[in-house]
Amino acid sequence: MTGKRKTIAIIGCGPKGLYALDSLSQVGRNNPASQIDLHIFEASPHPGAGPIYDPSQPDILLMNFPARMIDAWTDGRGPDFLKWSHSNGSSVAADDYVPRSNVGAYLGWCFKKVVENAPANINLTLHTTSVTSLRQKQDGWIVTPSGIVVDEVLVSTGHQDWLRENSADSAITVSSPYPISKTLTPASVRAGAIVACRGFALTFIDMMLALTEGRGGVFTEIDKGHSYQPSGQEPALIAPFSRSGRPMRAKVSQTQFTPPRDVEFWTEQLDGFQMVLGDPRVDLFSEHIWTKLLSIADKLQGASGGAAREFFDDWTATPFDAHRCRDALRLGYDIASGRIAPDIGWALAETWRRCYPQLIRWISYRELCQHDAALFLEVAAEMERLAFGPPAQNVGKLICLEEAGLISFDHLTNPPNADVIIDATIPSAGAAALSEPLAGLLRDGHVSVGALGGLRINADGQSLCNNGVTAGLSIIGRATEGCVLGNDTLSRLLHDLPERWAKQVLRSTAAQNTGLEAAT
Ligand SMILES: Cc1cc2nc3c(=O)[nH]c(=O)nc-3n(C[C@H](O)[C@H](O)[C@H](O)COP(=O)(O)OP(=O)(O)OC[C@H]3O[C@@H](n4cnc5c(N)ncnc54)[C@H](O)[C@@H]3O)c2cc1C
Repeated sequence: MTGKRKTIAIIGCGPKGLYALDSLSQVGRNNPASQIDLHIFEASPHPGAGPIYDPSQPDILLMNFPARMIDAWTDGRGPDFLKWSHSNGSSVAADDYVPRSNVGAYLGWCFKKVVENAPANINLTLHTTSVTSLRQKQDGWIVTPSGIVVDEVLVSTGHQDWLRENSADSAITVSSPYPISKTLTPASVRAGAIVACRGFALTFIDMMLALTEGRGGVFTEIDKGHSYQPSGQEPALIAPFSRSGRPMRAKVSQTQFTPPRDVEFWTEQLDGFQMVLGDPRVDLFSEHIWTKLLSIADKLQGASGGAAREFFDDWTATPFDAHRCRDALRLGYDIASGRIAPDIGWALAETWRRCYPQLIRWISYRELCQHDAALFLEVAAEMERLAFGPPAQNVGKLICLEEAGLISFDHLTNPPNADVIIDATIPSAGAAALSEPLAGLLRDGHVSVGALGGLRINADGQSLCNNGVTAGLSIIGRATEGCVLGNDTLSRLLHDLPERWAKQVLRSTAAQNTGLEAAT
């Protein structure tokens, strides 16, 4: 039998597009009768890596999880990042937080491998271009600017156009610090300038390092943290500000931190959590799930019931001033580097991290009621700060720069008069900040937005609109955040959407071919 050739497009080939391509190659290999023309559209010159893992960015920009967790393959079909690095002569250790540029080189290599090893029944074309629109045509989609018509399209555009152009008042505003080598030059942020920085999360840390270490300053590790030798090229002052003024907590350093509980403790707690999630009467995050998470945190800490809730309520009660921010950073850093015993805040963050995969499975594709959705969004945003912060070494550097007077916490919720304002926020995940082609798909009613703000998809990645599945259109990644929890990550373990999408596409190809056979 020779079936009809199917034409498929993947729009956006950062990590998630790479995983989808790899998954499609896998199922294509197992289904040699399927004939596929695959078009990959990627705006950046680094397919597989994309702008976030651009291999040419400065080495001071680090991953926020350790090297041992980086693996672009499933089932050991290729080398993980550590094996790949070692085979290239690097001595990187499992617990190192490596430069994103190194990870970009790895992802680029993985992309090449997948393309080289693609089965003969998949005919692959890479278009290095930005897709500006997708329009439905009968039972296919027209991809602009190429004009190619495809049967199936997967949109995995991730952060979309996050490298924002500088706005008209660019003399004082840097609209995005990325790419750092182009935006944070001595001409745009001169030595001695007063810099206000909107946003106090991971992008702020990148920006802080670019304007200090990236300009020739030198950090040295000392007993209580770091010392800093300036180069003279730094701004006079960097002042972060945000709505809450709350900082991120340092991630623990595996080599310095000793976990207080053993594997048995966690097996028991995770089993107990699963019982709650599996109970068909459990449908409220606020009443059932959040309460359970707080109680696990209390147990982890050996604290009296209510300690974790008290911590959370206090943490979120008011915006932070300089004093609180300083104390919170120091406390998190001292815990992370094993100088002091963990506190209840650490216990809550650890509980969230450990329970996260189960929570993802429970909440993804679920429609919460408005009240429950609001609490979940508040908790998730706060836990992002507490559980998924920067590596301890970067918090150590932040503390050191503040003590040296180069960073000021005096304007945390109120920006100072500044020579330059840097926008170090990232456009919201979910559907709040869509650009093309997703914005057009929303206007045309081919995609819809769920209660938690993400584009709605089913477990195979297919777009859901008001009439059910939108034929031939799938979306994975950041735009669906809310419908799918925590999918803006490099991890290939937390979600199986690329694999499920590929199987679904092949199923529909097979069904089409069977129909064709029956008709002829
Ligand atoms: C500064 C920063 C640091 C991060 N650090 C980490 C980390 O340490 N660990 C971690 O797990 N996660 C990190 N993340 C989260 C990160 O988003 C994910 O790790 C990962 O990049 C998600 O992959 P993705 O393919 O979904 O999205 P992206 O990486 O954003 O890739 C999307 C791709 O689509 C392309 N594209 C976009 N629009 C179009 C279009 N219209 N036409 C054609 N192509 C298009 C882009 O060029 C890009 O290559 C970080 C994010 C940022 C912003």
